[in-house]
Amino acid sequence: MTGTSHATQPGEDPVVQLISVEKNFGDYTALKDINLDVRSGEKVIICGPSGSGKSTLIRCINRLEQHDAGKIIVDGVEMSDDTRNLATIRSEVGMVFQQFNLFPHMSVLDNLALAPMRVRGVSRAEAEETALALLERVRIPEQARKYPAQLSGGQQQRVAIARALCMKPRVLLFDEPTSALDPEMISEVLDVMEELAREGMTMICVTHEMGFARKVADTMVFMDQGQIVEKAPTEAFFSGAQNARTQLFLDQIL
Ligand code: ADP
Ligand code: MG
Repeated sequence: MTGTSHATQPGEDPVVQLISVEKNFGDYTALKDINLDVRSGEKVIICGPSGSGKSTLIRCINRLEQHDAGKIIVDGVEMSDDTRNLATIRSEVGMVFQQFNLFPHMSVLDNLALAPMRVRGVSRAEAEETALALLERVRIPEQARKYPAQLSGGQQQRVAIARALCMKPRVLLFDEPTSALDPEMISEVLDVMEELAREGMTMICVTHEMGFARKVADTMVFMDQGQIVEKAPTEAFFSGAQNARTQLFLDQIL
């Protein structure tokens, strides 16, 4: 992890840049005129009602969905149909899903070692060493030889975070990482995410955990009906000076 404070100094080129991004599903416009710059080390938290386009936005950033107009640039590489660009972007953008998405037939260790071996050509010994170090970081080194189904939801999500980190990504994307968890397991996952944030990881996270957002976010984004309705520094966002739609949403969830 390259968590250095100089990385967050303004003026640096953004790690992720979205310019007038649009995404349609048939006639339905899921994303409209999305503009967002995320600098190195910046933590951006995205909230908004169900169906507002949060997942679609996150999925466009690592091209699980293809945008229809505008530009998405990750670490200077513009996303296009060029598959070389896709490979670059996939290895620089880590993703953590709501439903963990671990490989059920593989041990925890193999879940972590697979991509570095296949995609980066790392040796098994080196991949396992990195994997074990990351399992220490998410505080479950003793689970390395188990299978996902033998772990709790909170443990599985921490494995998923470690797996994303194995590729040494420039940015981590989270899509409601605690929404599928039993309440007593939410904090163990948020604690790990908070630690990553403190270490300087660049993060874009969809969540409704507003306590976490207040602690961790540099920038808050509120989406509604496929658009960014509000984007503000965290303190300003929560201080009550928002757009009426944002305020209504916060009143409902806080
Ligand atoms: P959120 O994550 O904010 O709840 P989504 O990004 O999942 O919202 O969805 C935004 C809108 O796009 C919703 O109306 C949803 O039904 C629609 N949508 C998402 N994915 C698809 C898809 N694959 N096909 C058609 N419509 C979709
Ligand atoms: Mg969603």
